[in-house]
Amino acid sequence: MTLLASILLRSSPARALGVLAGTLALLTGCGAGGEPVPRHVLLISIDTLRADHLACYGYERPTSPHLDALAARGVVFEDVTASSPWTLPSHASLLTGLYPSRAGMRAPEHRLAEPIPTLAEHLTARGFTTRAVVNSYFLSKRSGLDAGFETYDYVEEFLSNGNIVNRAPAITDRALQLLDDPDLGDAGSERIFLFLHYYDVHSDYAPEEPWRSRMVRPYAGRLDGTTPQLTGLRSARQKLAPGDLRHLIDLYDAEILQLDAELGRLFAGLEARGLAEDTLIVVTSDHGEEFQEHGWILHGHDFWQELVGIPLIVAGPGLPAGLRSDTPASLIDVAPTVARLVERPLADEHDGIDLSPAWRGGVLPRERVLFSEALHVPENPGKKWMVRRGPMKLVLNYVNRRKRLFDLGADPAELTSLAAERSETTSELLELLRAQIRLRPIAEDFAETPGTTDVENLRKIGY
Ligand SMILES: [Zn+2]
Repeated sequence: MTLLASILLRSSPARALGVLAGTLALLTGCGAGGEPVPRHVLLISIDTLRADHLACYGYERPTSPHLDALAARGVVFEDVTASSPWTLPSHASLLTGLYPSRAGMRAPEHRLAEPIPTLAEHLTARGFTTRAVVNSYFLSKRSGLDAGFETYDYVEEFLSNGNIVNRAPAITDRALQLLDDPDLGDAGSERIFLFLHYYDVHSDYAPEEPWRSRMVRPYAGRLDGTTPQLTGLRSARQKLAPGDLRHLIDLYDAEILQLDAELGRLFAGLEARGLAEDTLIVVTSDHGEEFQEHGWILHGHDFWQELVGIPLIVAGPGLPAGLRSDTPASLIDVAPTVARLVERPLADEHDGIDLSPAWRGGVLPRERVLFSEALHVPENPGKKWMVRRGPMKLVLNYVNRRKRLFDLGADPAELTSLAAERSETTSELLELLRAQIRLRPIAEDFAETPGTTDVENLRKIGY
């Protein structure tokens, strides 16, 4: 029996059709437009990674040599907005192409409802083997985000003493092990969708040697980068001295450098297995991190650019090297873009757009309206909302009705609110926001009361 026949025999009818269609496309090796079609997809989410701390996004420190190399051989989206400033809702958007409120995933106790379509379900039904390794309790199977993945591994991020440790080596090891699985057949005869979630850049900021010495300058203060200490400082609204702040940033940068080395090992592993040339690689993040640019640290409670400005790098067969796009993009665009690039366009309802016109001679809407929502304020995740149209960004506090309006073109650091001065723009953006807030989830929430484990784990990771 041929390998293809054996795959078809153990597949569902929908999947078997997908395998057949995929095999025919891959025999030609090209899509409808004559461009090479990536055989496999590697989607990587690096938790808590703000774009502006990567050299390929203009950072002055060399934190990211392997990501920079990936960026040089692919497409970099320079202006990407996270759909929320914390882990669970943003990953729901990444894996569904829906805003958190439309996916019913705004609060810690939410679980993805079964009728919500996911990218993994879509690709499984169209012939892909789908696998995932995640490194946060909130993305474990309790979230429902495993929907559509044939295997979905959760690598625990906590030690028994509550410390959060860097587990990137375990994520990379597991990923390479999955690629070596004999069930996948010879010579990559199955198409693989592999989703990896790395948690190392998230606090605790605990970089190891040799990366620590490369980024962390001498420091004699008391800050150790642990999550309980950071949340304590945040609760106290304590303004940090410049030396303390610099130390926290050094630790954060060292964690990026350490994580980047693991990505280098992962990419080398793809190369060694002969998969690199056939794989679409997409790297992004779920949100950034604050270092008191606007008075706060950590993330989850607001929409400043340091919190919602994330990277998005796409590289692989058929993509141009070194192209940069400043078109506004969002996490909701990843699923439709991936699906389109592997010639399996999303049929299900989604909020995002296919970004591939950025390099296919098309036009992407510059005045596109984007939202960010779902704060980590458990008692009121709808307290603030964000809307953007082109460079204009409005944040509305839904409880006290306060508004901030910024022109990111003229004021990228968001120092001066124009809400009163530009009242017409403010009104227009408010109207767009109200319409978005009125939208209902496309399926009802599976909201559950947070259990004691949830509450305890939230506390440990700084929420
Ligand atoms: Zn996160």
